[in-house]
Amino acid sequence: MKIVVLDGYTLNPGDLSWGELEKLGELTVYDRTPEDKVLERIGDAEIVYTNKTPLTRETFYKAPNLRWVGVLATGYNVVDVEAARERGIPVANIPTYGTAAVAQMVFALLLEICHHVWEHSEAVKRGDWTNNLDWCFWNYPLIELADKTMGIIGYGRIGQATGKIAQAMGMKVVAYDQYENKELESETMKYVSLDELLRVSDVISLHCPLFESTKGIINKETISKMKDGVILINTSRGPLVVEEDLAEALNSGKVYAAAVDVVSSEPISMDNPLLKAKNIIITPHIAWAPKESRQRLMNIAVDNLKAFLDGNPVNVVNNL
Ligand code: NAD
Repeated sequence: MKIVVLDGYTLNPGDLSWGELEKLGELTVYDRTPEDKVLERIGDAEIVYTNKTPLTRETFYKAPNLRWVGVLATGYNVVDVEAARERGIPVANIPTYGTAAVAQMVFALLLEICHHVWEHSEAVKRGDWTNNLDWCFWNYPLIELADKTMGIIGYGRIGQATGKIAQAMGMKVVAYDQYENKELESETMKYVSLDELLRVSDVISLHCPLFESTKGIINKETISKMKDGVILINTSRGPLVVEEDLAEALNSGKVYAAAVDVVSSEPISMDNPLLKAKNIIITPHIAWAPKESRQRLMNIAVDNLKAFLDGNPVNVVNNL
């Protein structure tokens, strides 16, 4: 059985092993595959893994032996799952693997905004402390999070993990979600409407998936309902934010600071308005990527294939 991984590099740039997949068949791993090479590289393989390489309707109709597709990610929008269904080909994703890592990243970003640890350390190495008149100095306002309110939009797995950390740091949490699990409410966590969340939050963190209903949820109008000086964190999906509107709000000071791990089109284009906005941290979609989290993803990707080969497919997203 031939197994082809079309774009394995971001999952495994060399610090993980493909060994478990090798045990299941004749494995070929490509670091990345241009769209015009997809069919050629799939060839007569039965099993194909993709992370971000598109698998189109044409692919499903032209790959002669294709039996199963594994997506090396949670989001599977790169795969024409309907065409796969028509061809009787299950597409399996990785529903969850990086909850802890993404929640941790929210605080890596937020704490950088609160303390500017890296820049202060660089200032010390430049000699600014040595030459300072007083025994300490700081170059930016320093912010304490305890007693502040974090508004979490989308209180699912990552939203809840983020909420737990926020509460551990003494913050109050308000959450907006279409589905409210009242059992999660406590003295320090309450569900509220979106408007209420925007009105009361000192920090807003986005954790809802990208749907038509959530696209552009952070825009001129919703920003105008936020507190002056709010902090915004986006580790979910770039298009949740209208980037021109956020850039304008950062430049005017309405939004004090923002940190985004995701942008509207990735890799980021050099004319993205956020690149020139004030007080913004932008990271290259790394929240998911600690080694522990990628290892978990790899294990689930292998288990998904084993389950299919055993006749009990799991994590299938195209309901065959
Ligand atoms: P999840 O499905 O557990 O939670 C999503 C929550 O959003 C659910 O509770 C759902 O009810 C809620 N929701 C759906 N539509 C909504 C709406 N219109 N308004 C408000 N809430 C709504 O998903 P998760 O595992 O917590 O992941 C959340 C998102 O994080 C993913 O969709 C993905 O975009 C993103 N993510 C990013 C990275 C990264 O590396 N930056 C990694 C993994 C996931």
